[in-house]
Amino acid sequence: MKKAQSMKPLTTLELLSTLVGFDTTSRQSNLQLINYVRNYLDDYGVESTLIYNDEGDRANLYATIGPHDVGGVLLSGHTDVVPVTGQAWDSDPYKITDREGILYGRGSSDMKGFIAATLAAVPTMVNQQLKTPLHLAFSYDEEIGCVGAKDMVEKLKLLEVKPRLGVIGEPTLMQSIVGHKGKQTYRVDFTGFSCHSAYLDDGVNAVEHAAKLILFIQQMNQKLVERGYTDSGYSVDHSTFQTGVIKGGTVINIVPRNCEFVFEVRHLPQHDVKAMIKEITDYAYQEVLPAMRKVNDECDISFTNLSAYPGMHTQVGSECAELVSSLTSHACAGEKVSFGTEGGLFQEHLDMDCVVCGPGSIEQAHKPNEFIHRTQLVECDGLLEKLVNACRVS
Ligand SMILES: [Zn+2]
Repeated sequence: MKKAQSMKPLTTLELLSTLVGFDTTSRQSNLQLINYVRNYLDDYGVESTLIYNDEGDRANLYATIGPHDVGGVLLSGHTDVVPVTGQAWDSDPYKITDREGILYGRGSSDMKGFIAATLAAVPTMVNQQLKTPLHLAFSYDEEIGCVGAKDMVEKLKLLEVKPRLGVIGEPTLMQSIVGHKGKQTYRVDFTGFSCHSAYLDDGVNAVEHAAKLILFIQQMNQKLVERGYTDSGYSVDHSTFQTGVIKGGTVINIVPRNCEFVFEVRHLPQHDVKAMIKEITDYAYQEVLPAMRKVNDECDISFTNLSAYPGMHTQVGSECAELVSSLTSHACAGEKVSFGTEGGLFQEHLDMDCVVCGPGSIEQAHKPNEFIHRTQLVECDGLLEKLVNACRVS
């Protein structure tokens, strides 16, 4: 505890203003912010580890406060934000503007508010003798598929003692959320056989064969409902499949050789997504491709996974759900959300129980004039204060 002992601790609002000032749009360097956080922690004698991406221009930060020989509670936040390009803002998105207790700025809700509150609680964390450690885990590039967190879990897997519970501070208006869907995205490339469209029996129409598979993918929605693979905790109660992008063909009088499309599945975490994808690839390779190859054996279909993150599924009444609801004024009623978080990765790879709970609303995330109510930050400060109390030697 070096120079910070004589310093006046920074407030959540002051820290939020500083964090919002760093343009950490995904895919850009977040190192300015990370170095600021690292120096801040260093001022309180807290050592942190940086886990860089391959290019070395982005990093995750991981730090433990309290004993290193027992599990503990991980506080997770992503440092990146979505772009402001093309959005009409009424004020500078990288400067917190306070209008009657509403704080505008990119990342104010999603999710620099939580990181600011966590940092503001650091002086209290270090001044208490903790029996349960608190771990800070700040990642990069969450918004483009939990990229940084994937590197972080690989490193955390190597720790002898791993965090046991996780609070993922995505904006939930401080409600405890126990589940979210996982997501996978695939590109499918069809190679048919081209010819003059007047002689189409000589060709293999890649667009039409792709359409068969697209229809099959679309029908998965109904099939899963019929099989009872539903969860009424979600506003859309089943895993969902959709094709969102398609390209194929050149001109109308040529039987198209190529077609590619991209589809996604947003799956319930309790159901096996691999089995769902296998149903689709089986149909492609056992039904569609043989029909194409009957005409020309050079035809092909290939699947490329473009992104994936797991879902999160925590039991109501689990240690983590109980802990988090005891720290807030909202009882945990088993709410689930449609958006993804890093909680699924921590749960899948580190066997941690996680709850999503943070200040601000997802309604404001990603939009122009993103904001957070000052009262949300106060509520989050309160949660962290209670958490520190719950973790200290009594
Ligand atoms: Zn977020």
